[in-house]
Amino acid sequence: MRRYDAIVIGVGGMGSAAVYHLARRGQRTLGLEQFDIPHDRGSSHGTNRIIRLAYWEHPSYVPLLLRAYELWRELEHRAGERLLIITGGIDAGPEDSRTVAGSLLSCGLHHLRHEKLSAAELRRRFPGYRLADDMVAVYQPDGGFVLSERAIVAHVAAAQALGADVHAREPVLSWEAGSGGVQVRTPRDTYAAERLVLTAGPWTGRLVPALAHAAVPERQVLLWAQPLRPEFFQLATFPVFNMESREGRFYGFPIYGVPGFKIGKYHHRLEQTGADSVDREIHPEDEAVLRDGIRRYFPDADGPTMAMTTCLFTNSPDEHFILDRHPEHANVCLAAGFSGHGYKFCSVVGEIMADLALSGESRFDLSLFTVNRLPRAARG
Ligand SMILES: Cc1cc2nc3c(=O)[nH]c(=O)nc-3n(C[C@H](O)[C@H](O)[C@H](O)COP(=O)(O)OP(=O)(O)OC[C@H]3O[C@@H](n4cnc5c(N)ncnc54)[C@H](O)[C@@H]3O)c2cc1C
Repeated sequence: MRRYDAIVIGVGGMGSAAVYHLARRGQRTLGLEQFDIPHDRGSSHGTNRIIRLAYWEHPSYVPLLLRAYELWRELEHRAGERLLIITGGIDAGPEDSRTVAGSLLSCGLHHLRHEKLSAAELRRRFPGYRLADDMVAVYQPDGGFVLSERAIVAHVAAAQALGADVHAREPVLSWEAGSGGVQVRTPRDTYAAERLVLTAGPWTGRLVPALAHAAVPERQVLLWAQPLRPEFFQLATFPVFNMESREGRFYGFPIYGVPGFKIGKYHHRLEQTGADSVDREIHPEDEAVLRDGIRRYFPDADGPTMAMTTCLFTNSPDEHFILDRHPEHANVCLAAGFSGHGYKFCSVVGEIMADLALSGESRFDLSLFTVNRLPRAARG
C-alpha cells in the first residue's frame, strides 16, 4: 500500500489549491480526481469566476478575500500566467436590498474603496448597464474575475513541481479513518496517509453521507451572447456584476475567452439534482431565463447566442461554506457547500485546509463555516 502524509479527494477548484498548499508545507501529498484535470462536469468550468471584495453575503468573508487576492497573485507569479483580471465590480439592486446594503456594510467595516452610483450615473459611466430607475449600484474597483480552469492547472502544476502526486481518472470508491491514519480505496489501488482533505464539490454527499442534506447539488446554466454594441462589454468598459432584481439575482462578465457577454442567474430554474444525474442538455427554457435578464438590464448585449453550458452549485442550507474538521475524525478536513460563490476563495481555502489538516487551526475566524452551525436535520 502506498503511503502519503496527506491525501486530497477531488482535484477541482478547491482540491487543486489544497494539494498545492499541503505540498508547499513539505507534506508528501496525493490528489485523486475522478475525471480529467480540468474537466467540465463539476463546478469550476466555463472560463472564469467573479472575484469581489465588497462581500454582501457577510463581512466575515472579507479577511479571507484579502488573503485570496494575495494568493492568486502569488500563483500567477509562479505560473508565469495571468489568472486574475481586474475590471471593477458592481453590486446592484434596490437601495434597501440585501445586495446593496450588504455590500456597503462590508465596504464600511473593512474600509474598502467604493462609490455608490444611481442607475443613470452607472449608465453614463458604463453604458452596457441599464438598471431599473429604483436600483442603485456599489462600484468597487478591486472586482474582477479569476480564470478558473487555468487556475486549477496552475495549482496542480505548482503542486507537482513541489513533489505532489496527482492522479486523474481515478475515482475514490471509499475511505476510512481511524487513530492510525486514513485509507483510501480506488479501482487502481489502496492508499494510506496521516490525514485526508475532502474537496469533492457536488459529490460531497456521496463521500460523506452525513452531509448529503448540507451540500446539495443544483443545476445551473451559463450563456454567452454576442453584444450588439461590443464596445460596451469590453474588459475596460464593463465591470463584472452581481445584481438583485425583481426577476432574481443575475451575475455577469465582460467579453473574455468566448466571443460574448457572459450571464448567469443564481439558482437558475431551482433544479436540485444528483451530481451524476444532472441534465446537461440545454433547453429553450434555460435560454429564456437568461435572455430575460439581458433584455431588461443589458439590451445592448442582446445579440446571437455564442455558447451555453450547464454547471453545478452545491448549496448549504444557509449558503455559507463548510470549512471544518470532520465531526468524527480529527484527521479528516472538509471544504464543501460553496453555494455558488466559492471559486474566488479557492486559493485561500487551499491554505485553510492545509492549516486545519496540519494543526487543527486557522488564523481566520471560521465560526461562520463550522459543521455544527448547520441545522441538525442537515447533518445526517
Ligand atoms: C454557473 C456557475 C457560476 C459560478 N460563478 C461563480 C463566481 O462568479 N464566483 C465565485 O466565486 N464562484 C462562482 N461559482 C461557484 C464556484 O464555481 C464553486 O463554488 C467552486 O467551483 C467549487 O469548487 P469545488 O472544488 O468545490 O468543486 P469542483 O471544482 O467541482 O471540484 C470537485 C472535484 O471533486 C471531484 N470528485 C468528486 N468526487 C470524487 C471522487 N469520489 N473521487 C475523485 N474525485 C472526486 C470532482 O470530479 C471535481 O473535480 C459558480 C458556480 C457555477 C456552477
